[in-house]
Amino acid sequence: MTRRWNGWGDDGIVGKVPGGAISQLESLVGPGRPTPDATLADVVDTLPAGRLPDHPLVSAGAEDRIRHSRGQSLGDWVALRSASLGRVPDGVGRPSSSAEVRELLGYAGEVGATVVPYGGGTTVVGGLSPSDLGPPHGSDPPVLVVDLERLAGLRAFDPASGLASFGAGVTGPALESALKAHGRMLGHEPQSWEYSTLGGWVATRSSGQRSLGFGRIEALFAGGRLEAPAGTLDLPTYPASAAGPDLRQVVLGSEGRLGIVTEATVRTVPIPEYQRTLALFVPDWGRAMEILLELAGARLPLAMVRMSTQDETRTTLAMAGRRRRLGLAMRWVGLRGGGGDPCLLLLGLAGQTRIAEATAGLASKIVRHHGGVPAPDAFGRQWDAGRYLQPYLRNTLWEAGYAVDTLESATDWTRAPTLAAALVQTLNAGLDGENERAHAFAHLSHVYSSGTSIYVTYIFRRSPRPEGTYRRWLTLKTAASRTIVEHGGTISHQHGVGRDHAPYLAVEKGELGMAALRDLAARFDPDGLMDPEVLLGGTGRPVPAAESEGGT
Ligand SMILES: Cc1cc2nc3c(=O)[nH]c(=O)nc-3n(C[C@H](O)[C@H](O)[C@H](O)COP(=O)(O)OP(=O)(O)OC[C@H]3O[C@@H](n4cnc5c(N)ncnc54)[C@H](O)[C@@H]3O)c2cc1C
Repeated sequence: MTRRWNGWGDDGIVGKVPGGAISQLESLVGPGRPTPDATLADVVDTLPAGRLPDHPLVSAGAEDRIRHSRGQSLGDWVALRSASLGRVPDGVGRPSSSAEVRELLGYAGEVGATVVPYGGGTTVVGGLSPSDLGPPHGSDPPVLVVDLERLAGLRAFDPASGLASFGAGVTGPALESALKAHGRMLGHEPQSWEYSTLGGWVATRSSGQRSLGFGRIEALFAGGRLEAPAGTLDLPTYPASAAGPDLRQVVLGSEGRLGIVTEATVRTVPIPEYQRTLALFVPDWGRAMEILLELAGARLPLAMVRMSTQDETRTTLAMAGRRRRLGLAMRWVGLRGGGGDPCLLLLGLAGQTRIAEATAGLASKIVRHHGGVPAPDAFGRQWDAGRYLQPYLRNTLWEAGYAVDTLESATDWTRAPTLAAALVQTLNAGLDGENERAHAFAHLSHVYSSGTSIYVTYIFRRSPRPEGTYRRWLTLKTAASRTIVEHGGTISHQHGVGRDHAPYLAVEKGELGMAALRDLAARFDPDGLMDPEVLLGGTGRPVPAAESEGGT
């Protein structure tokens, strides 16, 4: 199993996109125009030597540096696939203890390097990118990536409290497998679970697909250790405390600006005896909103509530090759008095069988009351089986000439329907200026009593030139980010800030809030060792100059 160097996931797994879905895309945004990608060998051959002096914990191998140069945002993909990487880290450190992290911070201080902590490299907001489109090495400081993969095992498990301490570099599968041996689980399941790490989740305030039931990472993170340039911060694991401000909240979402999370203790639960995803169809978006509000108000112990718009339902079922099944489902809903173009609702259940079944019954009653009907059981089972495979479709679509990206926000119930509609509209019209079309669709998930997250996927044709694809992406991303802040949404419900969202952070933090965050960074990192461009950088990605793209 080798990890793809320029896209998502394991090299050996190919996401299959049915022919029918490609025809649908062609009619929505036009025929894809694939262009060949750069090979890893091309990039290795042209990479300048690293500028860091030798250190026993630091690798300067070209392939290692390239593989640690980017995350998974679309801007990162364009850079990797076109070999226009700009700055590439000069070395990759792999500490196996907090003491070695301190040693690397000391070394970075001595040689004047910028430090970028690296978990699973799955950031989709430019959390790891030293710089775009710039010269490979200018007079800027050298970059030292600190990869936490060797700081990864289960350190301690307390069965009475259910507290489990891990090295921060542990990935989702390794963490759950270690807990399973104790009959426990964490249940934190971002769709990047295969590769993302506990330290990365803490650093980005991530949310799992079943966080409604299991809790977001801020509820699961009981304490741990941060190694900052200024010293060590140990966070004790009290079940609750009124002893002043909670310093865990300072570390959660700090995105490597304050230092490196080396250890995290999490609150685990016994593996639930009952786990299932129920799928239902709802006749239209109006009734979908009524159902969501009623489910949110009912406070049922559901692990997940996820409602797709009609457009997303159509598109995702077509991508999964289920057009025939969708046709049948639409007729089924139609026969029961609903429209012929339903919304897909997924409900996650996890817990004791008796309680989970009662919850399923109560939730289904609410859905049926608004004209919804259950989908065949296979829908829920297939979603469970395929949920980590969906991101692989992004590779296949890229190779067919299409770029796919996602973005998200959260807001209160009053604003959510308007923001969701405005985001889809903004993205659909975002490339009108260059006579191109984009196709966007959304779902609402992580349903809270006061509001909901909004998750949007958008697809557009790649330009024959990488700069053109990059500019299209930045145009859409910028328009969508502005729409989010104008409609009172947070710039991120789960992906974090990185470089891509940094220009919008001040809107929600305010002047004093931003100053306080900068003061914190200066306290933990007085000499400015940690990557200054993420979280508080504020400038975002550079826009390439407009030019004729020839052949668009
Ligand atoms: C296909 C796909 C699906 C995704 N689905 C979800 C989802 O469902 N929910 C969700 O919340 N996010 C999701 N994401 C986004 C991403 O996976 C999360 O932000 C995740 O928490 C990042 O973890 P990571 O270990 O990969 O961190 P990285 O990508 O390696 O790093 C992210 C940021 O955190 C910093 N960092 C990493 N580790 C540490 C550490 N130990 N100490 C200090 N700073 C650190 C890095 O410097 C960087 O700024 C998805 C991404 C992809 C590509």
